[in-house]
Amino acid sequence: MADCVFCKIIKGELPSYKVYEDDLIMAFLDINPINKGHTLVVPKEHYKSTLETPDDLVKHLAVITNKISRAVLKATGARACNIGINNGAESGQIIFHTHWHIMPRFAGDGYELWKGKDTTYGEGEIESVAKKIADNI
Ligand code: 5GP
Ligand code: ZN
Repeated sequence: MADCVFCKIIKGELPSYKVYEDDLIMAFLDINPINKGHTLVVPKEHYKSTLETPDDLVKHLAVITNKISRAVLKATGARACNIGINNGAESGQIIFHTHWHIMPRFAGDGYELWKGKDTTYGEGEIESVAKKIADNI
């Protein structure tokens, strides 16, 4: 897509610090990392988010993300990482080209996972939510 930042990076029209490339995927360092080594794994073809990305490509993304995650851990000395995927604006997605975050994590680095709010299910609601999701798969 012409005005997509990640398409431009993939075409070499914008600079990036590339760590991996194959026919279908490129991975490069995030410009605004949560920790050093924060890497983005991006399909070369433009899809708005993982939800629109074809299954075979998602499978490849998963395998390559796992492979690169091990390298990120070795390179940074981290023992843990978060894999992050934001699908849609309300989830925090700001670049609307599929990408998976690999975020190396360190003890005491100051980040917390999202905490549960006071969301509780009403009487019988959890069963109906589970059923609705199952019926839509
Ligand atoms: P999102 O919130 O869409 O999942 O995350 C987008 C990520 O892309 C952010 O972490 C942001 O720092 C990163 N980003 C935005 N623009 C650029 C850019 O031009 N180059 C690189 N390498 N990363 C970018
Ligand atoms: Zn794009």
